[in-house]
Amino acid sequence: GVEESQSFQTIPSRVYPEVRFRSERTRKRILVTGGTGFVGSHLVDKLLLDGHEVIALDNFFTGRRRNVEHWIGHSNFELVHHDVVNSYFVEVDQIYHLASPASPPHYMYNPVKTIKTNSIGTINMLGLAKRVKATILLASTSEIYGDPEVHPQPESYWGHVNPIGPRSCYDEGKRVAESLMVAYAKQEQVDIRIARIFNTFGPRMHMNDGRVVSNFIIQAIQDKPITIYGNGTQTRSFQFVDDLADGLIALMNSNVTSPVNLGNPEEHTISDFAHIIKDLVGSKSEIEHMDGQIDDPQQRKPDIRKAAEMIDWQPKVKMHDGIRKTIEYFRKEIHDEEKKRRI
Ligand code: NAD
Ligand code: UDP
Repeated sequence: GVEESQSFQTIPSRVYPEVRFRSERTRKRILVTGGTGFVGSHLVDKLLLDGHEVIALDNFFTGRRRNVEHWIGHSNFELVHHDVVNSYFVEVDQIYHLASPASPPHYMYNPVKTIKTNSIGTINMLGLAKRVKATILLASTSEIYGDPEVHPQPESYWGHVNPIGPRSCYDEGKRVAESLMVAYAKQEQVDIRIARIFNTFGPRMHMNDGRVVSNFIIQAIQDKPITIYGNGTQTRSFQFVDDLADGLIALMNSNVTSPVNLGNPEEHTISDFAHIIKDLVGSKSEIEHMDGQIDDPQQRKPDIRKAAEMIDWQPKVKMHDGIRKTIEYFRKEIHDEEKKRRI
């Protein structure tokens, strides 16, 4: 027997978020590629909370284990370190295919790899969907519209993309991914969904990914100059990540096989946006104008009538509320980093 005086080190059992109970009949096995990234990790949360089994696959290029840490060890969750450029086999009912760097500095870092991920990676996931008869959703992007000449952008617009510019590895990568999706649907009867995602922000965005929301919030928190590229009259429309995750799930579970825009049509100039963030942070930052970026789309706003009509979805979170939550997240991240640096 064990002596009473002997001490054991026990690992405290983990407390997980409470998940919905589902019978085998309604519980699905779902693969999320890019599952530890910004959008992917929010999607993983929602699917698990809804009682499904989730496999998050990621090569950790821009994803972080930390984003899904709260599920590690849960019996409905599996984390797989894998690169979609190599084939992968698993029995699943649904595939959310999000694996791809998404912010300009990340996708321009290794343009050849960005193209491979979006082309070969998408072929691999479509091949998997075909073999196991899974429904596959592609996370496409508003970038397939390029620097648009039609405003706002409906799904019927073909776009205005520079095929040899610095953004083309991503834009054309996603265009070929869409093309692959429709080819597999037609030729191989794969059940497809295509989400054209517009600018998205929220907690778990990368601190250093160079996107406007993260840059401006961090600059404002640190009272450093807020850097506007060009004259700041270019526009964007920003959606909160929670709304997007709901939209992706609604689209997957619909029967719409043609592309659907997911975004928030509330449009702001980048200058406006700099002031909004500065005010919400309560910052003393100056506004600084830098050189404009090559091929920077001058206006972008989704036409989301199709999503409203066909998948009964529209964004719910007001931009200001979303920004407040994101500011809170970045304040904590900056605080944690500074603490780490002091140790
Ligand atoms: P993110 O960089 O946080 O997530 C992408 C994830 O994919 C990361 O976890 C990364 O490590 C992983 N990944 C990249 N290459 C991979 C590979 N070869 N194999 C396996 N994993 C790989 O970006 P995000 O903002 O979460 O974007 C997710 C998806 O949504 C992307 O496909 C992106 O193109 C699309 N999208 C995002 C936005 C946005 O504003 N965030 C807008 C339009 C489209
Ligand atoms: N931008 C800016 N300052 C920054 C980062 C971005 O003015 O520090 C601008 C950028 O030129 C673009 C817009 O903000 O017009 C959105 O850029 P982002 O990289 O976030 O996303 P994009 O929509 O271009 O993919």
